[in-house]
Parts: sequence; C-alpha cells; structure tokens
Amino acid sequence: MKISKILQNKKSFSIEVFPPKKDGNIEQLYQTIMDIKYLKPDFISVTYGAGGSTRKNTEKIASYIKSNIGIEPMAHLTCIGSSIDELDKIISEFKENNIENILALRGDTPKEGDLKEGDFKHASDLVKYISKKDFCIGIACYPEKHPEARTLEDDINYLKLKFDNGASFGITQLFFDNKVFYNFIDKIEKIGINKPILAGIFIITNYNQLQKITEIAKPLLPETLKNNLEKYKDNQEVIKKIGIEFAINQSLDLLKNGVKGLHFYIMNQKESIIKIHEAIKNYL
Ligand code: FAD
Repeated sequence: MKISKILQNKKSFSIEVFPPKKDGNIEQLYQTIMDIKYLKPDFISVTYGAGGSTRKNTEKIASYIKSNIGIEPMAHLTCIGSSIDELDKIISEFKENNIENILALRGDTPKEGDLKEGDFKHASDLVKYISKKDFCIGIACYPEKHPEARTLEDDINYLKLKFDNGASFGITQLFFDNKVFYNFIDKIEKIGINKPILAGIFIITNYNQLQKITEIAKPLLPETLKNNLEKYKDNQEVIKKIGIEFAINQSLDLLKNGVKGLHFYIMNQKESIIKIHEAIKNYL
C-alpha cells in the first residue's frame, strides 16, 4: 500500500532499520522485526548505503519485510554518483518486488575516494524522475537546516521543489528540541507546503553512538538532556532509561501538538521501541 494513503486516515507510527554490515546478521534483523510486528508499524523504511551499511541489501530486506513479515516497506534510494541506467535497474527491481514506496535522497558525498559523476545532482531531480513511475515518494527534510545549506530559508525553498516535483510526504532528520520542529512546520506552511511531515525520533541508547550521530546532524540538545547524558555517560543502563523517557515525552508532546506521524530511528534494536510504543500507543 502507498504510504500517502495510510497518511490520509491516521497519525502514522513507523520505524527505520538499516541493512547490517555483515550479511550474516540479516536473519537477526528479520527476527527483531518479527518481534516488534505486534506493535503494528504502519511501515518500515530500509536505509540505502547510510552509515556504511551495504546498498545491495536494501531491496532484499524491504522485499522480505513485505512478503514474509507482512509490513509495508519503504526503500531508501540515493542518486549521488549514480547514472540513470543504474538507478533504473534498482527502480525496476523495486517494482518487481512490489515495493511501492521510495524515500528519494541525494545521499552524502563520500569522505574517501573520488565520487563518480552521477546523472542527478539533487534529491529533487530524483523525485522528478521517479514521479513518472507510479511510486509513493517520501523525502528528507531538516528542521535545523541541512548542514550544507546557507540558511534554513534556502533549504526550505529546495524542500518545496521536492514536493512540487512529486513527493507526497517528508521525514525529518532527528531533532531533540520540539520547538525547532514547530518553528519549521510554521515556516514551511507559510510558503505553501501542506504535505504531511513525519517527525524523525532518534532513540538514545548509547552515549558514544549519540556523539557520532550528533557530529553529522548537529541537533540542538536541550540543556537538561545534555547534562544528564554527560553525567551518566559510562552507565549504559541509565543512558538507555534516559533515552526511553526522553523519546516518550518528546513523542507525546508532538502528538498533542498535531504531528502527522512519528518515524523512529531504532538502530535495529527492539527493547526501547517496545517500551516507547507502550507509553504512546493510546495517543496515535
Ligand atoms: P537534497 O534535497 O538534494 O539537499 C542537499 C543539499 O542541497 C541541501 O543543503 C539543500 O538545501 C541543497 N539543495 C537541494 N536542492 C538544490 C538545488 N536544486 N540547487 C542547489 N542546492 C540544492 N543517506 C543515505 O546515504 N542513505 C539513506 O538511506 C539515508 N536516509 C535518510 C533518511 C532521512 C529521513 C534523512 C533526513 C536523511 C537520510 N540520509 C540518508 C542522509 C541524506 O542522504 C543526506 O542528508 C544528504 O546530505 C542530503 O540528502 P537530501 O536528499 O536531503 O538532499
């Protein structure tokens, strides 16, 4: 089913997973997804080459989630450094496997090695191309602006282009301060974007992992959260508890304030999302 259809009727609850670096760990990921199936996520998205994960398994995992687990998948796809022929091959494979939803992205410039010239420069070009192929298209958005963008206003204008080119909904980069999200929604509505924006919620489980992720996304960390994490950084169990409590409060506040959906970055772990879902399920 197309995600745009799901979003017409309800506030969505969804999850992101990534293909494990080692092929041998895919079965473990499938088991994790089986174990959280009862939470009834509206869809599960599968990243594409992000954070060093392999590209080739995105389609395999998305297709398994659909056919063997029975949850709607969304496959991420990046265009940076790819030719139209290469993208066409992947898009046809998505079609053959009944994958109806694509998160269309540019992707990050690799740190090492030369990036070969691709046919599309920005996600908006990829969106335009895929929009002719009968997929439901999601795109990324950045309440605290994309790191390369000069200003939030510039970034929002390019976001509008992604919607004008055929995207149906957006998913935000992680953020920890809801005020940032509300300000972003105000700004995009003012320039005429009225498509659903799902809030990307990162679940903190590990201090070092959070450090790495915040280096990339550079989100504002509320002072109390920052101090608490700093204080207990060597106690994994307490960090997990802080992460769960924070995500619950963040989600409840968003739900009370009209968010269209919550998309959880679960880092392929089930424990925290089970507890968070229990606390928020009546508000979805
Ligand atoms: P774009 O929309 O192309 O924007 C990139 C930059 O270019 C921005 O600064 C924007 O303001 C600017 N820009 C956009 N259009 C134009 C234009 N026409 N002219 C000039 N400037 C322009 N990465 C992965 O590798 N794999 C994944 O699976 C993945 N999943 C993600 C999921 C989510 C929800 C998010 C938020 C990010 C994800 N990323 C993933 C990271 C993403 O690829 C990077 O953030 C990347 O740097 C930008 O991708 P984009 O699609 O937002 O690019």
